Amino acid sequence: MTVTLSDQLVSLNPATGEPVGSVVVTAPEAISGMVDQARKAQKAWAALTLEERGAQLKAAGEALEAKAVEIGTTLTQEMGKPLREGIGEVKSCARGMASTVDEIAAALQPVVTEDKRTKSHVFYDAFGVCAAIAPWNFPVAMPHSLVIPALMAGNAVILKPSEETPLSAQAYADVLNEFLPAGVLTVVHGADEQGKALVNADVDLIAFTGSRETGKKILENASRDLKRVVLELGGKDPMIVLDDANLEEAAKFAVMNSFRNAGQVCVSTERIYVDERVATEFENLMKTMTENLKQGDGQEEGTQIGPMINDRQRAHVLKQLELAKNEGARVVTGSDAHPERFIVPTILSDLNPAMAIMRDETFGPIACVVRYQSEEDAVRQANDTPFGLGAAVFGEEEHALKVARHLDAGMIGVNKSCGGASGTPWVGAKESGYGYHGSDEGHRQFAQVRVVSVPKG
Ligand code: NAD
Repeated sequence: MTVTLSDQLVSLNPATGEPVGSVVVTAPEAISGMVDQARKAQKAWAALTLEERGAQLKAAGEALEAKAVEIGTTLTQEMGKPLREGIGEVKSCARGMASTVDEIAAALQPVVTEDKRTKSHVFYDAFGVCAAIAPWNFPVAMPHSLVIPALMAGNAVILKPSEETPLSAQAYADVLNEFLPAGVLTVVHGADEQGKALVNADVDLIAFTGSRETGKKILENASRDLKRVVLELGGKDPMIVLDDANLEEAAKFAVMNSFRNAGQVCVSTERIYVDERVATEFENLMKTMTENLKQGDGQEEGTQIGPMINDRQRAHVLKQLELAKNEGARVVTGSDAHPERFIVPTILSDLNPAMAIMRDETFGPIACVVRYQSEEDAVRQANDTPFGLGAAVFGEEEHALKVARHLDAGMIGVNKSCGGASGTPWVGAKESGYGYHGSDEGHRQFAQVRVVSVPKG
């Protein structure tokens, strides 16, 4: 949560409304000059080898780990998630830095391909300047996932973090900048106006993570100069609970994945389709687990669910909830009186597919449980959305795997969350993604592919 006072963006603690700190807002008209500076710095950065760039980032990873408690605390103060998760987010970026960098370096090594007449070298070169535009829900992990592959490919990066979480992103960039040459990583602070100015400036690649609506605007603006774009967008993830599922495990996952980060995760479970034969037992298990969750200020010991990021997001979720209740949804557990800044984790049942809460991204702690009679129908309903980020199926493994292959999502977890093994991409289907991250193919999207060929004697 932030307010703008003159040229200052003041970050407020979403749990208390207290100021945490501030940064200077970047004037939109200054952005094109910043891009020119980045372009100058980029040449020498791209001239380094992958190993040399990697070594600087690995050193930054160690420094980031040393500051994980400090930066993680700031993250919790300005975003609201439990302190353990805030510190954990920074630690996981820091500790994973070396392996991420090695994985990217391996993906960007030149490849030699030949046939009878021609020998070709395929190079993965820098584009030039990359605009990295990030959301607020993982204030360090999201910038990290854009900045590191872009830098490794030899690009200079202009990072525009979310206006909701400027302090943690600035602290992250400050650590990296202790190790990077001047001008290679620059931070622009502000909101959509600064984002637009950055997209319209002379950048070569736009790597964006955020909502589907903003992604569409960026694609439209980038199209004028055919700028390269990589968009990781929103979701409306379904979960299917089969009749042979371990209901305890399924309910545990449903509660964790619907309410973690107060439901403010792109791969939150937002729709749950349960075989009607096991639905009552599943719903009861979910109810008990949900009522045991501890909600509060992320800095308080034992907090599991924090506040909503800001009043706008809270109002959006409450409106979906009210509409659903007015249209006949049953509240399995929840509250009629949500405390200021918070939304009490809520389970709804008796929903219909036309309700806004079943169609639009919620991004809040609401779990929607729908009973199904046939698996075909469950799959049809799960796929009935323009989104296609993650999905989960719980059931006997062979059975669940079969159902999983019919789901129209980029990442599907069977008896687990949707994330794959390391080296696999983070990828959305349909309107949840346009380009993707991770894996050799994902890393190569931050590079210009260039083929140099010679004749064979
Ligand atoms: P958002 O789209 O409102 O904002 C994201 C970023 O874009 C912010 O930095 C914002 O200032 C900037 N921006 C806004 N308008 C812009 C414009 N016209 N041009 C350029 N930049 C602009 O999203 P948010 O509310 O910060 O984040 C929540 C969304 O992010 C959810 O939809 C969530 O699902 C999605 N998300 C997706 C992933 C993924 O991996 N697919 C991960 C995290 C979050």
